[in-house]
Amino acid sequence: MSNKFVVGADVGGTAVKWIAGTDPATPEFSGEIPTCPNDIEATFQSLADAVRSKTDCTVNQFGLACAGVIDPVTSLLCGSPNLPGWQGKDLHLFAETIFPEAAVTIINDVNAALVGEWIFGAGRGHNNLAMLALGTGVGGALIIDGQLVTGSYNSAGEFGHMIIERGGLECACGNKGCLEAYTGSRGIVQRSNTELSVADLFKKAEAGDQEAIDLFRETGEYLAIGVGNLINIIDPDLVIIGGGVARAGDLIMKPCIQDVSKYVLASIKPEEVVVPAKLGINAAAIGVAVMARGNA
Ligand SMILES: [Zn+2]
Repeated sequence: MSNKFVVGADVGGTAVKWIAGTDPATPEFSGEIPTCPNDIEATFQSLADAVRSKTDCTVNQFGLACAGVIDPVTSLLCGSPNLPGWQGKDLHLFAETIFPEAAVTIINDVNAALVGEWIFGAGRGHNNLAMLALGTGVGGALIIDGQLVTGSYNSAGEFGHMIIERGGLECACGNKGCLEAYTGSRGIVQRSNTELSVADLFKKAEAGDQEAIDLFRETGEYLAIGVGNLINIIDPDLVIIGGGVARAGDLIMKPCIQDVSKYVLASIKPEEVVVPAKLGINAAAIGVAVMARGNA
């Protein structure tokens, strides 16, 4: 194992999760800072300050995972509805600025999370994997025959924007009826007709509130439509469900697994194919750190 020092950071619409150390599997340092969705420079500066407050090691490799569509040649971010102020910005430029001595690797956040789950988590030992990450938005990623599929135009696996309801709820991407509009935290809160956060709604459901329980059941049923579509198109070994919203666990997973059979043609055991992510909130930071390690 190289003793080079690697930082992995995962930029989502709400927070940046980061890890740092010589081995991404067992990072010595980790943390979380808020994302400024309209100010890329301030977010990168806070990230640098947060890392520097815990270690003064020279950063040799920096892996940056970011929500949205990233051009691998120009490293420009586009198609990231939850980071409006970051649109069209050169991620590589900002990454180099905060850790000037590091070799930089940049990739979509859910692609990074799936790589993390593939190597260390729920996907270990499998080479055909799909992932859905339920967070502020809903991201997706795909590994086929042991290769991350990024697509001809860099947007493969954007499963959150498959339309599951014609003329349905409005999505952050501008379309109506996307899976994200029903199973991302924004959509869940909107459907709750309350001002509560998903975390608060989750607490209510755990305490036995029937309306909150029904809300998450319905979320699981919407998720099942998306997962069923994925299985019919790709037929992967596993569909891994991750992201912050997935912390609601069985409240979402049980109705999802129950309903998936309705939509799938293949003879599968949904409870063995649709599985929760294992690495928790640091999956993408770990995954992109592993990729940064491989690229340097
Ligand atoms: Zn959408």
